[in-house]
Parts: sequence; structure tokens; C-alpha cells
Amino acid sequence: MYSADHPLKPRRLIGVHDLLRRIGAFDRPNAVVLEPRDAAIAEIERIHSPEYIRAVQEASVDPDLEYARWGLSPYGDTPPFAGMHDASLLTTGATLRGMDEVLAGRLRVSFNGAGGLHHAMRDRASGFCIYNDPAIACGLLADRGLKVAYVDIDAHHGDGVQAAFYDTDQVLTISLHETGRSLFPGTGFADERGIGRGAGYSVNVALPPYTDDRAYTAAFDAVVPPLVARFRPDVLVTQQGIDSHYSDPLTHLQVSTHAREHAVRAFRGFDVPWVAMGGGGYDLDAVARGWSIEYLVMLGAAVPAELHDADPPAWTGDERDAIDVATDVAVRDALAAAFR
Ligand SMILES: [Zn+2]
Repeated sequence: MYSADHPLKPRRLIGVHDLLRRIGAFDRPNAVVLEPRDAAIAEIERIHSPEYIRAVQEASVDPDLEYARWGLSPYGDTPPFAGMHDASLLTTGATLRGMDEVLAGRLRVSFNGAGGLHHAMRDRASGFCIYNDPAIACGLLADRGLKVAYVDIDAHHGDGVQAAFYDTDQVLTISLHETGRSLFPGTGFADERGIGRGAGYSVNVALPPYTDDRAYTAAFDAVVPPLVARFRPDVLVTQQGIDSHYSDPLTHLQVSTHAREHAVRAFRGFDVPWVAMGGGGYDLDAVARGWSIEYLVMLGAAVPAELHDADPPAWTGDERDAIDVATDVAVRDALAAAFR
């Protein structure tokens, strides 16, 4: 993960780092803070085309030229900016540095809060994402002959990772997200299930807006642990975007830190080498508390109650019924489309 004084670290991560330092998380004997490395071009090319990488390099030097065909537009979510190539190599490299340690057996789990840029496509930047570090990690792990379970709990569909492994059964992708009917990128429905050998290995749980902890946890438990157990991965890769939080300004899920802790405890319980990263998350207080809790869970440390949301949303009455029915449908469709 990034060191505290790194200039390229997004500002929202400083809050996570400060909170973890304040509660002594980095002083624990099993916590290690790693320096990131640059990703190699060959590693980026595992997922992205040489032409796209060249365009990002050019945009990095001369951001005022025209790059819209590569998803880089000053009027879009992902504008070109000076130095973007180098910054993205470092963001990706931080995930890979953690992966290196996990593969070597020196760490049980690594976490890169700056990573999880799951929307980037082979030839196109998208949704703030330039190089798709989770897909690159999954690809490099698969190239070693490992079976990879990728679980994405960002509020947005992990479309770029799904696309990268749509035709293979070596990487199982599971994404729980707010339905594409109400949220970017507009994909992630249960019938996107993979093709060829990959049929059934892309799993999508398209949750209704306003899904709360109770419904979210029920959906997670019905889909993620059983499918991961059935798949029997050699390695787990997780994208833990925390924009599913109820206070997030960009999304409509109503998930709290409690449901998130439950999910991350399940990840830990799979007991396989684990490469974790962040993702979205735009309410700074929720990002700081949420990822701090999740980091403590990764360490196997106790979670102080004051880090949690005091009063998470919980539907009652007709709204309860409506959310439960809609999440049940999402679960049923996801399981029906999954591999046997
Ligand atoms: Zn997101």
C-alpha cells in the first residue's frame, strides 16, 4: 500500500491512513506497510492493448490533444491529465507489490486502497479508471496457473474485470452492485454470465437501489460463500469499493459498516491467499471508518465499536417487503446463471 507521504496518493486515503495510525493498526506485529513499485508495461499489457497504453503515455505528456476515442475526455469522468501514465503505473504497481508478497507467502493478505480501478477496458478508460489493476492482478495470477476468485463489492458493476475474463473459467468474477438500471455503468445483469468456457463464471447480483444491511447481507451470504466454495480458488482477489455506504453521494445503496464487516470477515474466512484493494467511495468519513474496519479485519484485530455507524438505515413495513423481494430476485437470477 502507499506510504503516508506519497504525493500521488488521493486525498481521501489520507483519512484512512491517519485513522489507522491513530488506533495503532500499523504497530501491530502482523502489519507491514509496503512501498509501492511501478507496474511494468508488460504487466499492463496483460489487460490493455499497446495502442491504448501508447495513447495514455501521450496524454500524460500532452493532455490537451484529442483522446476521446480512448475514453479520455476533458468533458467526461476520466479527463486526461499530465503525468497520468506514471501515476497509474504506481497505482497498479501498489496492487502488484502486495500481490508479490502474498504470492511469496510473506503476507496472508495485501490491501491497496488506491487500487480497485475496475471500470477500465482493454482499449478505453472509464469511470475514473485508467489501468485496471484488479484485472491485471487476476490475469497475472491466472497466468501462473492459479484459479482466481474475484469478488467485487463496490456499488458499481465491475464491468472491466468481467470483460477481461468473460470467456474463461479460470477467473470467477462475482460482482454485487446497485442495478445498472439506476447506476453507472448500466451493466451487470444476471444474464451477463460469460461465454464459451467462461459460461457461468461471470456472476452478477444486481441489487435494487436502497438495499439495506439486512437485504445486502442475505444476498451476499446466498451467493458469495457458496460459489467460492464450489469454485475452490487458489487465490482470492477482492475489490472493496465503499461507495455502497448509505452516506455515499454518488450511489443509492444503504449499506453500513456492519454489513461490510460481515462481508470482509467472509473473505478472510475463505482462508486462501488474498489480494485486496479499494475502489470507489466518496464520503470521506465513511471511507476512513469503513476501510479502517476492513483493514483491522484483515489483520485479525478487534474492531473498536466507535468506528462503526451508530444508526444504520433499516427498512420496515412495505419498504422492507419490497427490498427483500427485489433482492431475492437478484439472488435467484444470479445463482441460476452461475456455473454448476
Ligand atoms: Zn464504485
